[in-house]
Amino acid sequence: MKALEQKILSEGQVLPGNVLKVGSFLNQQMDSDFIMEIGREIARLYADEGVTKVLTVESSGIALAVAAGIALHVPSVFAKKHKSANMSKEVYTASVYSFTHGMEYEIAVAKEYISERDRVLIVDDFLANGNALRGLMSIVSQSGASLAGCAVAIEKGFQGAGDAMRAEGIRIDSLAIIDSMTDEGVTFRA
Ligand code: 5GP
Repeated sequence: MKALEQKILSEGQVLPGNVLKVGSFLNQQMDSDFIMEIGREIARLYADEGVTKVLTVESSGIALAVAAGIALHVPSVFAKKHKSANMSKEVYTASVYSFTHGMEYEIAVAKEYISERDRVLIVDDFLANGNALRGLMSIVSQSGASLAGCAVAIEKGFQGAGDAMRAEGIRIDSLAIIDSMTDEGVTFRA
């Protein structure tokens, strides 16, 4: 998606530790029209997949998942990062190692929101080492639902996880794939 590459080039900041900051349009301030554009692009890619639910993890995936859900006319569900008292005891859980925070945490989705009748599209903002997507895929598999695929806005291709998952036969769609990222600039996979 050329518009996303342009946005990364004009507004993204490369931080130490291979972190790309996109707080001006995706992660803190959200560019509403642009988020919807991404949602429509994801919906276009999965239009024929019979998706019934979009699944993401809080918090940075939520905006994109909602946008994709609106465009596909299906509900979006987010995994919570901590078990909370008001959540049903009946939850699917998975352990996820956070790339940006350097720690392990648990994600949980109430069983009532995903069932074996669902066809799930996983959406997230970034694909780095693939731990968030693998945690969400574990939840889909525990639920008995089928997985349509995973759509992310930005894949850091140089970290290799996206290609490893594709090699396993998992459908991964990334709207921008970064090949390299330094203080000098960002280059994208053609
Ligand atoms: P993974 O689990 O694939 O290693 O990392 C994906 C998660 O970490 C995403 O949900 C995203 O929130 C966060 N993340 C990974 N890399 C980056 C990055 O370069 N920039 C930002 N803003 N978030 C990232």
